[in-house]
Amino acid sequence: MIYKKIAMGFAAIVAIVIALGIASQKQLTEIASDMDSLYKHPFTVSNAAKSINFHLVSMHRHMKDVVLAQNATQMEWAVTKVAQHERHALAEFAIIFERFLGEQEQINQTYQSFVDWQPIRNEVISLMRNGNQRDASEITTGKGATHVAKLNHEVSELVEFAYSKAELFHGRAIKRKEHALIVNSVFSGLAVILVMAFSVYVFRSLKEANKDRIRRNHLIDQHIMLATLDKSGNIIDASNALCRFLGCLKADLIGRPSRFFDNSENTEKLASDIFKIINTGQQWQGEIQHRADDGNIYWATSSILPNFDEHYNILNFTNILNDITNKKLSNVDKLTALPNRRSFDELLAQELRSAKRHSYNLSLAILDIDFFKKYNDCYGHPQGDAALKQVAQRLMACLKRPNDYIFRIGGEEFAFIFSRASTAESNNFLDILRKEIEALHIQHQESNVSNYLTISVGAYVLSPHETLSAHELYIAADKALYQAKVERNNVVTECESTQVLSKTG
Ligand code: GH3
Ligand code: MG
Ligand code: MG
Repeated sequence: MIYKKIAMGFAAIVAIVIALGIASQKQLTEIASDMDSLYKHPFTVSNAAKSINFHLVSMHRHMKDVVLAQNATQMEWAVTKVAQHERHALAEFAIIFERFLGEQEQINQTYQSFVDWQPIRNEVISLMRNGNQRDASEITTGKGATHVAKLNHEVSELVEFAYSKAELFHGRAIKRKEHALIVNSVFSGLAVILVMAFSVYVFRSLKEANKDRIRRNHLIDQHIMLATLDKSGNIIDASNALCRFLGCLKADLIGRPSRFFDNSENTEKLASDIFKIINTGQQWQGEIQHRADDGNIYWATSSILPNFDEHYNILNFTNILNDITNKKLSNVDKLTALPNRRSFDELLAQELRSAKRHSYNLSLAILDIDFFKKYNDCYGHPQGDAALKQVAQRLMACLKRPNDYIFRIGGEEFAFIFSRASTAESNNFLDILRKEIEALHIQHQESNVSNYLTISVGAYVLSPHETLSAHELYIAADKALYQAKVERNNVVTECESTQVLSKTG
């Protein structure tokens, strides 16, 4: 919208400047044309008329020479002179005919008077040639002189007319100049006002846009965890939100190697994996873990995008993070750091759908510590907590394949989900777990089945064609556990048709 307005503003200014140019051009052309008319018509006509007057006077004078000539030679010389001035006068008449701006009739009349003088002159010359000087002299001073005076008067009127025309043109040129000045001033004033108004508008818009940009940048800085990393992974810039998440000052971060903000045990490998991907120009997405100085662990999703120059060379990287600690904590058991009951429910439903879709066996096992109440009573609750953690860690260490999952689903109860194992394989694997826990050698003098802490395991192996819900599968595994608890330190694995029992040796 703003670009449209700016473009329209510029277009208006350009239009006004063009109009100013055209108006100036038009005024100048008109003034030049008046000056041209002034030169071509009145001046030329008045000059020609003055010249005619001169030739008239000369002709009249030479006519007097004709009358006063002492001999034939003097007379013929004077006749030649008269003819000469007559030719010049006629040439001047031609100019007037061409350029005179007044009534054509007025020139015709003057010209006719000039032509009418010719028979009078011819009569005088003829009388002189016949030796009749007295009559010739009478004509010359009589009707000849009267005719010349009349001619002189008519030619003077032509001059006067030409002068008045000159005045008119001059006056018009002055008027046009004044008009041109007014038009130019109005257009220039308009252009200046428009440019000023437009500048104020553009300035205000830029100020608003800048304010908006600063507000957005502030929002991004405060609420989005963002970092720019150089090609070696060192931090060039970091938002305040990220600094808060990491629990440090911006000044402490800039220039430091980022390790992509993960400081868990496998950070070295993670960093090298990330570099492998982003250095090829691709985006990396994943989760990072950050242990703060207070010992708490925070989680974030991280998207690292390479930034390119105009030749598609990598300039640096942008790392956009999103705090998922709360979500993580709501899915993780605080004591053991294992996924909790909520995660178990989600994952069991998910795995059930996947097993059905891809037709493979799904095993669910419930592991329960034997005589744990007695353990607590004997060794105290804190020791019970420590034992729970130890068991959890060992179970965790037993996860071998990507689709093996372990959860703490209750006080001293754990769940195991794994897939693609037969009933026998499942039972063997679970028996290994049972032995692993006993092999921890956590003393339990109150146990009826061992000197050490033990677990009982109930499992159900679901074949692809069975249509059990997640809840029904859980009930089936719990039923198996109930049977395993008969002897304790024991594994009972059930499936649709068979039951396998395994007992500690
Ligand atoms: P069984 O062999 O039949 O499973 O007997 P049990 O005593 O293990 O089972 P019971 O369900 O009677 O007792 C479970 C005990 O687990 C009770 C409770 O004190 C203990 N417990 C549950 N959660 C925790 C915990 O977070 N920390 C500790 N220390 N003990 C817990
Ligand atoms: Mg229990
Ligand atoms: Mg128990």
